[in-house]
Amino acid sequence: MKDLHSFGWYAARIAPHMPKKAFKPVPGRLFGGLAYLLICIAGLLTIGLFHLHPLFYLLIAIVLGTSFAAMGFLGHEILHGTVVRKAWLRDLLGAIAFWPLTTGPKLWRKWHNLTHHVHTQDHEKDPDSWPTLEKLSKSKFLRWVYRLPISVRAFSSFASLTVTFTLHSAKMFVTYIKEFKPRKQPEVWLQFILPWVSWIGLLIWIGPLKWFFAFLLPLLIANFIVMLYISTNHRLNPLVPVNDPLANSLTVTVPKWVDVLHFNFSYHTEHHLFPGMSSKYYPLVKFHIKRMWPERYHEMSISRAVVALWKTPRVYYHQNELIDPREGHVYGSLGNGLEPKDIQFRKIEADKLISEKSK
Ligand SMILES: [Zn+2]
Ligand SMILES: [Zn+2]
Repeated sequence: MKDLHSFGWYAARIAPHMPKKAFKPVPGRLFGGLAYLLICIAGLLTIGLFHLHPLFYLLIAIVLGTSFAAMGFLGHEILHGTVVRKAWLRDLLGAIAFWPLTTGPKLWRKWHNLTHHVHTQDHEKDPDSWPTLEKLSKSKFLRWVYRLPISVRAFSSFASLTVTFTLHSAKMFVTYIKEFKPRKQPEVWLQFILPWVSWIGLLIWIGPLKWFFAFLLPLLIANFIVMLYISTNHRLNPLVPVNDPLANSLTVTVPKWVDVLHFNFSYHTEHHLFPGMSSKYYPLVKFHIKRMWPERYHEMSISRAVVALWKTPRVYYHQNELIDPREGHVYGSLGNGLEPKDIQFRKIEADKLISEKSK
């Protein structure tokens, strides 16, 4: 592996080339948030108050789902403190933006800002990283999953993207709630429960059929959209001993209008270099990364990344390779032999695999 550097190392080299305003919050992002919020309220009221053909409900559900996802992207930005600086306002706006995805701001900052960003792709400490072969051998469920053929696994993991964010978020609540100081815990509980109370209240008000179109289906759509990005952020990259964003993160490319709708969420490597900078400036950060370290930088279209995810297994083997334990097929990761345009694997002997597992 090439010599690795921390995100601070890269940031220190790029910062002098950035304009001063890039380090200031950008409250103008809230106009986009307000637009999404109004769309959501209008959609929910239309479904709640009017009796329409289900096809109209379906159309509204799609608009709601894409808006929920976009609000989540903005919530991510807000809770990094790049939109407003005041802590109470940041948390309030973040809570509103993450309301549909039912993730509380305090939990999110702990899980995402303080853990994922600090320990990215550290297989012990990053709550978002995928298992290693050793971990797999210790979990009955994972062992069962990885006995299924790769195509079945790929299909079910793509289908499960419609619920992954919400389920992972609930899991993070269970994982981290005990780590908050006892006097902070009630607030974290409240932030977790209140969104669900409101959505369940909506169910009681409008009944199950309308609720399906007003909340459940949009939630599944939003989960799928945010997870399409999140699953490409790091999962083709190696696990690394040093949190080097150029080694452990991937920037995907999407059409310009999608970047506008999604607040530049596609620029994930840039985000790991400057999590406290508004994503408005990430295209400029990208320009400098490509100028200084073109050979280290990973970038591809989101569709290529998704196809590569489909074709490769999600268990790490010796940190920088991916293994399909069922077949003994070993794939490279980005920067370690994975060529997304032409995905190849090598085969290792089954007995070698068993002896590795029992280590
Ligand atoms: Zn990340
Ligand atoms: Zn982040």
